[in-house]
Amino acid sequence: MFYLGIDFGTSGARAIVIDQQENILVEVDANFSSKVSPKLAQNWQETLYDLLLQIPLEIRQEIEAIAINGTSATVLLCDAEGNPIDEPIWYDDKRGVDILDNLKKVVPVNHLVCTATSSLAKLFWWYKTPLFKHAKYFLHQADWLTFLLHGKLGISDYHNALKLGYDVKNLCYPDWLKQLPFDSILPEVLPPGTPIKTVTTEIVKRFHFKPNCLVYTGTTDSIAAFLASGVQQPGEAVTSLGSTLVLKLLSQTRIDDYSSGIYSHRLGNLWLTGGASNTGGAVLNHFFNNEQLEILSNQIDVNTESKLDYYPLLKPGERFPINNPNLVPKLEPKPDNNIIFLQGLLESIAKIEALGYEKLQALGATSVTKIYTAGGGAKNETWRKIRERYLKVPVIVSQYTEAAYGTALLAKRSHVR
Ligand code: ADP
Repeated sequence: MFYLGIDFGTSGARAIVIDQQENILVEVDANFSSKVSPKLAQNWQETLYDLLLQIPLEIRQEIEAIAINGTSATVLLCDAEGNPIDEPIWYDDKRGVDILDNLKKVVPVNHLVCTATSSLAKLFWWYKTPLFKHAKYFLHQADWLTFLLHGKLGISDYHNALKLGYDVKNLCYPDWLKQLPFDSILPEVLPPGTPIKTVTTEIVKRFHFKPNCLVYTGTTDSIAAFLASGVQQPGEAVTSLGSTLVLKLLSQTRIDDYSSGIYSHRLGNLWLTGGASNTGGAVLNHFFNNEQLEILSNQIDVNTESKLDYYPLLKPGERFPINNPNLVPKLEPKPDNNIIFLQGLLESIAKIEALGYEKLQALGATSVTKIYTAGGGAKNETWRKIRERYLKVPVIVSQYTEAAYGTALLAKRSHVR
């Protein structure tokens, strides 16, 4: 019995099949052409089918459950048959800025969706266009791709629907949202990992899945990456050391501080809290390439402290853990010795990470007990030791970090529950 997780990003997609023991059996990739290409949704569909065909037939035939994750707030407007009536709008598309004032009139003050890039801002923008009269379904990237497998329109999950304004505490659309003129095209929202339907007969014929292979509601890419780490207990966290520094902490309590970019996703009866800082690997790469990072890091004496106190940023401005749009980068004094300079950078980022977890806990999140690490900086053992000193909890490198693996786990654990 096997389980399939599919991750759709901004330029590529990956599928991972796991077995009953949650080991990876197959991992396949496919790229789709540029972010701005016409017929984008069609490209996604072809990429999805390409991924499915790359999975060896004998494995495909044993798949019991499938789930898909997509980029959060990448959305589509579809007709009654599920055909997109316009190009999808990407997660980072800021056209919603044109209608932000209108949006603010109907949305509660300081709500998470009051940004130009929220799913609701995009829907609002579409509502003002002539083609809106043909719209029957508003879906997220993952919802639509999942629909291609099970054939039932108008289904989403509460991770994808958070930035649409769905109330994840009370599990309903809030009244202010239901009163808006596009209520009828909003998707039904289910918990991530809810069985929707078996794969369609066309999909069975085309890819030779078993007819009773079940398709589940999915999640977003960043939550899928979190799930991949295997974190299950409140107090466990995942830090992503990519080009930016992203913290995620599983908590018994929900915390929100939208001005600092802190919000909580629901995860069953727990909350996935977190925030993102502008510091991180992009600043390291401003001074050193990856090879230098590795060589210099190996020469750092982790038993000493550099006493350098930086706030590494590429340009002014920070939201979390310090909310100050004008925060000035601090990268002085710069010692002549590059080993000491890098030590100062790594220590300073570790201090910002520690401050981030302190901030989440100060807002009421469960105390941190253990931190898993993902992203390009995770392989740096020197940094792991430095971070452990400031974070004062065990810092562990995640065995799995791929979003597709997290989504395969979601499918498997939902299926065998
Ligand atoms: P993203 O997906 O956010 O672009 P990745 O997770 O691929 O980023 O990580 C890339 C980052 O990892 C780069 O910004 C780089 O600075 C950092 N990185 C790569 N190698 C090392 C290393 N040995 N030590 C610390 N950071 C590293």
